[in-house]
Amino acid sequence: MKIIKMQDTYISKIKQINKNGKYAVLTMGCQLNENDSEKISGMLEESGYTKTDDLAKANVIVFNTCCVRENAEDRLFGKLGEVKKYKENNGTIIVIGGCMMQEKHIVNKLKQSYPFVDIVFGPHTMQDFPKDLYNSIVENKKIEDILDIEGNIIEGMPIVRDDSIKASVAIMNGCNNFCTYCIVPYVRGRERSRNPQDIYNEVLDLAKNGYKEITLLGQNVNSYLVSERKQNENLNLTVKKENGEEVEVNSFAKLLRLINTIDGIERIRFISPHPKDFTDDVIDSIRDCDKVCNLIHLPLQSGSTNVLKAMNRKYTKEQYLNLVEKIKAKIPNIQFSTDIIVGFPGETEEDFEDTLDVIKKVGYEQIFMFIYSRRVGTVADKMENQIDEKVKHERFNRLKSLAEKIIEEGNKKYVGTVQKVLVEGKSKTNDKIYTGRTETNKVVNFEGKDDLVGKVIPLKIASEHMWYLKGEYEN
Ligand code: SF4
Repeated sequence: MKIIKMQDTYISKIKQINKNGKYAVLTMGCQLNENDSEKISGMLEESGYTKTDDLAKANVIVFNTCCVRENAEDRLFGKLGEVKKYKENNGTIIVIGGCMMQEKHIVNKLKQSYPFVDIVFGPHTMQDFPKDLYNSIVENKKIEDILDIEGNIIEGMPIVRDDSIKASVAIMNGCNNFCTYCIVPYVRGRERSRNPQDIYNEVLDLAKNGYKEITLLGQNVNSYLVSERKQNENLNLTVKKENGEEVEVNSFAKLLRLINTIDGIERIRFISPHPKDFTDDVIDSIRDCDKVCNLIHLPLQSGSTNVLKAMNRKYTKEQYLNLVEKIKAKIPNIQFSTDIIVGFPGETEEDFEDTLDVIKKVGYEQIFMFIYSRRVGTVADKMENQIDEKVKHERFNRLKSLAEKIIEEGNKKYVGTVQKVLVEGKSKTNDKIYTGRTETNKVVNFEGKDDLVGKVIPLKIASEHMWYLKGEYEN
């Protein structure tokens, strides 16, 4: 794999001084963060380090942080207290990267209370990590490598994947939406899309290496190339395919169609789209592309038009429900998953009831629920009508009960049907049981055999349980 030039220089320098070093990367965040962690692992392995799960044995410990939720901060500071002893006893190099490092108050807190941290870097300087690591080793000094402006998208970084069947591929970075509760646009910067040729090449490479499922990642995937199109309305990027055919790609809808043609890839997922940008061409692509899964993650956040306005989500309850209906009408058997925030400032009982109402109407397959947490630097943090913690928890529990009821009810429709399941491996708790996922991301457990791993197989669903389905495999 081609390694970008400056990285190459420092990776070679580290290799010369590294004596069988070990590393650990701890990820605290979303799938984009996990994808970044795979690149951090890639840089370390190219530099001659091998992975360990035992922090006491690691020469380098990297925390890849996320600033979206408050408990990620608590987790980081808690874990730092734990690794301090490794620094003192073994001289372990302690590194913190990720978007939390774009927050000045966090970096100041680190300097004051955790002076043993050796390197901090932000998402815009991740590609310089080998240089920072080398300088930290040879000069034994503290390094702060953070840029306030967004960096370019860097191609050709080494990557060590955590999985051999499913892989994530970032297609863009940053966000232009400024939802009032969200810190992402401030720390990840404005939207920048990768060139479709680079995405095509990466997925092609994954397919050749046996990967079956690809998840396309971005903060707002259906704005792929939208900013670039605004700057150049004639934008039409040409992708040269492996068979020599040239295809023009200028939107997310066309990217889906392109990725769908790659042999070997059997499933395509994407997260997250924004409801306000869910255009008809994307719906048509999902309908037409056989590999794009029949599950759309469509973040609702709140079912109340008033709260959605305060969140700056730019859609109403009715528009969201109309979009769901439009998608359902065009794509038979389509299912949805979603994100909900409970207790946003100003949320009344009536607003909360609106959220419950949307959940009942849509009937989601999965619901990711969060209690609103204040993030320094966001508009919502300055709102005066913050909700009492007790009320937030009480609503969260009601939401959870309803969500579980709806999911359990929804699971019943699978019993007696035959589902295509991508087999991911053996169950962690039972040697005879294998586990996989349906197109709609439901876990299916069944008695199988090793040679099914990595294959999409038909399984008859015998029974349903809250968090999984039980399948039967016929030889
Ligand atoms: S769409 Fe909203 S919630 Fe999602 S990353 Fe952008 S600002 Fe944050």
